[in-house]
Amino acid sequence: MKVIVVGAGAFGGWTALHLLRRGAKVTLVDAWGPGNSRASSGGETRVIRGTYGPDRIYVQMVARALELWRENERRWGRRLYHRTGALWMAGKDDRYEKASLPLLREAGLAFEELTAAEAAKRYPQINFDRVEWAIVEKDAGYLTARFACQAVLEGFLAEGGEYRQLSVTPGEIEGGKLSGLALPDGTKLSAADAYVFACGPWLGRLFPEVVGERIRPTRQEVFFFGTPSGDSRFTEESFPVWIDHGERLLYGIPGNQWRGFKVADDTRGAPFDPTSGERVASAEGLQAARDYLGFRFPGLKGSPLLESRVCQYENSPDQQFIVDRYPGASNLWLVGGGSGHGFKHGPALGELVAANVLGEKPVEPFFSLSRFRSKS
Ligand SMILES: Cc1cc2nc3c(=O)[nH]c(=O)nc-3n(C[C@H](O)[C@H](O)[C@H](O)COP(=O)(O)OP(=O)(O)OC[C@H]3O[C@@H](n4cnc5c(N)ncnc54)[C@H](O)[C@@H]3O)c2cc1C
Repeated sequence: MKVIVVGAGAFGGWTALHLLRRGAKVTLVDAWGPGNSRASSGGETRVIRGTYGPDRIYVQMVARALELWRENERRWGRRLYHRTGALWMAGKDDRYEKASLPLLREAGLAFEELTAAEAAKRYPQINFDRVEWAIVEKDAGYLTARFACQAVLEGFLAEGGEYRQLSVTPGEIEGGKLSGLALPDGTKLSAADAYVFACGPWLGRLFPEVVGERIRPTRQEVFFFGTPSGDSRFTEESFPVWIDHGERLLYGIPGNQWRGFKVADDTRGAPFDPTSGERVASAEGLQAARDYLGFRFPGLKGSPLLESRVCQYENSPDQQFIVDRYPGASNLWLVGGGSGHGFKHGPALGELVAANVLGEKPVEPFFSLSRFRSKS
């Protein structure tokens, strides 16, 4: 089977690699390159954690993804996954955290529950005001995001895949099939049995009728603050990934590769154009991050900003992924809707998509397009 995968981010890159390993002849195409600065996968780091409220499917996928991240790290001799553990701070409304505990257990993801007092003893760097209790996930941590996208491409090429840097659009649907891909110079690429579009925040624009507003890119800001010199209290040797789930959800990663202490707010920002949007962080966003930093991590009060990034989430209406066949085109697959939490799942999601495309597994109803139709 010949497959063209469009988009070399976390979803498309891993899909291409799994298809290749299952015997397909695969061409991977990307307009700007894997983990490029416009892509949602183009950040420095992404969190991997299994606490997912009542959503069993994601907890199971995290367990599988962890296996695959480790396996491929070994295969490539590169470090992509940093097992720092994750500290999940629960607020007054802790239904999400409570619902997670049995699912973490079921998936075999090791964790501890701590009272706020126990957590404060273990992490004296943190002010636990407004934290009711905490989960420490042992196998959670972070992934080096854009670097991992490059590693996937290099692995894919080494195993016989083909990569082309091209911007493509879907061609006509004829006789229940996509006829091929249109290139900007008017020519066509039409040598495949199946086409997978894993175009992150661009998916809605490429398929306005079927996806359209079901993928809404929002502007998200990320800040990296400097830690005191010679002080390892906030670096990964002694500090975990953290998620602070109070009225809002803030999260961060201790300085990876000495890049600074990352702080981000998961609240959905304003609509954002992933192609032409300027990526300059706002003064208000910086002030809010700084105020929070001083409150939650008193040792970092007044720390200088070292770097900032503006990225976009590609949100589906229910924040769940979209993996489905295009209605009326049996050889066309749509993959996206990472909704601010997709990166970690890349290896497991790619495995699922490959099985869908090769006809080995049916579409997962939780990720199907029909879920929107049945709700409307
Ligand atoms: C600030 C921020 C923090 C996040 N934190 C986390 C986290 O901690 N943990 C986590 O698991 N997830 C996190 N996420 C979410 C995660 O990064 C995304 O869900 C995931 O990276 C999406 O991957 P993707 O492959 O769908 O999209 P992308 O990475 O955007 O890839 C799509 C690719 O398609 C290409 N493309 C688009 N149009 C075309 C075209 N016409 N022709 C050819 N190529 C095309 C693009 O160049 C791009 O490379 C975060 C996201 C952001 C923005």
